[in-house]
Amino acid sequence: MASLFSKDIMTLQGVGEKRAKLFQKLGAPTVGALLRYYPRGYEDWSRHTSIAAAPLGELCTIRGTVLHRPTETRIRNGMTLYKTIVTDGDSDLHLTFFNNRYIPNLLTEGTAYLFYGKVSGMGSRREMSSPEFCRAEGAPPIVPIYRQTEGLSSRQISNAMKQAFPLLPEILQDPIPDDLRQAQGLCHLRYALENIHFPKTMESLAIARRRLIFEELLVLQLGLLQLKKRSKTAVSCHAITDYSEEFWKLLPFTPTNAQRRAVSEALHDMSGTTPYPMNRLVQGDVGSGKTAVAAALCHSVIKSGKQAALMAPTEILAKQHFASLSNFLAPAGIRLGLLTGSVTAAKKRALLEQLETGEIDLLIGTHALISDNVRFHDLALVITDEQHRFGVDQRASLSAKGENPHLLVMSATPIPRTLALMIYGDLDISVLNERPPGRQEIETYTIDSKKRPRAFQYLRKHIEAGYQCYIICPLIEEGQGDMASVLQYTEILKRDYFSDLEIGILHGKLKAKEKEEVMARFAAGELPILVSTTVVEVGVDVPNAVVILIENAERYGLSQLHQLRGRVGRGNVKSTCILVSDAQNEEAITRLKTMCRTSDGFQIADADLRLRGPGDFFGTNQHGLPDLKIADMAEDLETLQQAQAAAKALLHADPGLSEPNHRGLRGEVRMLFAKVGTNGFN
Ligand code: ADP
Ligand code: MG
Repeated sequence: MASLFSKDIMTLQGVGEKRAKLFQKLGAPTVGALLRYYPRGYEDWSRHTSIAAAPLGELCTIRGTVLHRPTETRIRNGMTLYKTIVTDGDSDLHLTFFNNRYIPNLLTEGTAYLFYGKVSGMGSRREMSSPEFCRAEGAPPIVPIYRQTEGLSSRQISNAMKQAFPLLPEILQDPIPDDLRQAQGLCHLRYALENIHFPKTMESLAIARRRLIFEELLVLQLGLLQLKKRSKTAVSCHAITDYSEEFWKLLPFTPTNAQRRAVSEALHDMSGTTPYPMNRLVQGDVGSGKTAVAAALCHSVIKSGKQAALMAPTEILAKQHFASLSNFLAPAGIRLGLLTGSVTAAKKRALLEQLETGEIDLLIGTHALISDNVRFHDLALVITDEQHRFGVDQRASLSAKGENPHLLVMSATPIPRTLALMIYGDLDISVLNERPPGRQEIETYTIDSKKRPRAFQYLRKHIEAGYQCYIICPLIEEGQGDMASVLQYTEILKRDYFSDLEIGILHGKLKAKEKEEVMARFAAGELPILVSTTVVEVGVDVPNAVVILIENAERYGLSQLHQLRGRVGRGNVKSTCILVSDAQNEEAITRLKTMCRTSDGFQIADADLRLRGPGDFFGTNQHGLPDLKIADMAEDLETLQQAQAAAKALLHADPGLSEPNHRGLRGEVRMLFAKVGTNGFN
């Protein structure tokens, strides 16, 4: 099988250069990759109905004999119809095809075919429009449907697949070792591939799926566990003393119990009592106070004579962390540095030098932190904020800048705990399940656009009382139809509603410096209104902002709406979230209702999972995990558990997967993680 991954797709008959490009686009540049290109669905042609009994308007299969060669009729605009009639012996079915000049040659008089499509009709007349069909003799019972691309249809992909099978070696090496395969009751790779593409029955398809899902999750777990292992093999690690009591005195507020717990759990991990560095996830809903937890840990690390680094996904956030951590920590004599893409070359040089000599204790920044020329004196703690924006590999590269530094990941995406444990291997988790005292529920309303003027009055009332407001609008580009761009939108706001107020504008096309300036002015209370795209989404903290109005709210997923809403309700004043939407579709309405009903991040995550499926949670963009082809982390939870246990056992017996019968798996791990750019599997 492995060698098929170096066999160009063009070895297949009928695949020339042009078509090869299309296969490449689908992620199948080689024969091996093609075999791993699984169907996205199936049509079950095995159950036929008679023409008379066919349910109207539903997909079904009919076996019929062609009564006459299809006739050709030209109608308006160069459109050509092909018509014929088929019979099942009892009733007739009228078929129509559009603009397909091959039809007369494909349907032979007197021959039986299977037709798959929707039946319509009036009285006793029955019709089908452009059904799919194949000869009844030797017809496959279940037809695979592949994700196609322009110029390459599902049927063409299926034809190429048929040619790929004979290329499989006679003795096919199964990456899953025999004993494990048997213990798990899984079929062999050959059977799985044959039946995922050309299943003989629904049962054989289920058997194939189970095996391929297990294999994929096993490979994923092996990869994740190995990534972790690299940080778990440390023999010596930084021993950190607990200075947290001293730190709490630096804060302008009293820490919540949840914050105290998270800090003491992390300090325990770092105390040097185990030979492993910390690897902990702090999960806390928006506004739960993750920044103070990070600050407490940096404080103890630095007081213990070491350095710490904090990486944020955007420049705005890095800047904000720098500001708030400076507030907490500078009075204790801690020296902080800020490194982002927009720091000037001269400043950067000085900064890097001070970092290397240990004159800077805490470096905060964007992914600029992982560039090659950043060298620490004695890095003991690496923190990444809002981790779903970083890839597994980016976190790993930052860690590589120290000697087995402790690792803390902060996330506002509430993943059910059991799921998180399985995704991240045996990462430890602290949950901030308590909001700082005095916080009030954010009231959330949905209004239609007709009520917008009243909503603006509501904003004005709060501005006059000294508070600030966010308005979120979706896009910057012009010509987006009904969606006003940020700039046009702001023009209208100024002209019709807030001519006396200064309005800040924030969007992705601004230069980093301009963004920062706007954000800084808003944070300082100089701008009463900030009109923004979702760049404010993650982590921005301005407690004096108490109303957020979200335009085209139906365009966002629940989790994103929840993150956006979390920009308000950060102080002790009652805050409001206004969702503006004229959406009519049911799914969108359910989403908006969910937002109005609850502000609990975990409940929202659950609802999101149910409404949209797990793709958005577990896609590469969210978690830095590789894309999965067939498994679904929420649906296949049980298999995920089994795969994780199996992966642990395998690595326990053979940590490097170097035994001959584990080589196949090792290759698969390398391939799965190649796409997210994680190297180091060898
Ligand atoms: P997030 O978890 O979303 O990152 P932040 O760390 O930005 O939340 O904290 C949100 C706000 O709450 C900040 O203004 C912060 O100073 C404040 N805060 C954090 N912890 C407490 C606390 N224990 N008591 C009062 N305010 C707090
Ligand atoms: Mg935050």
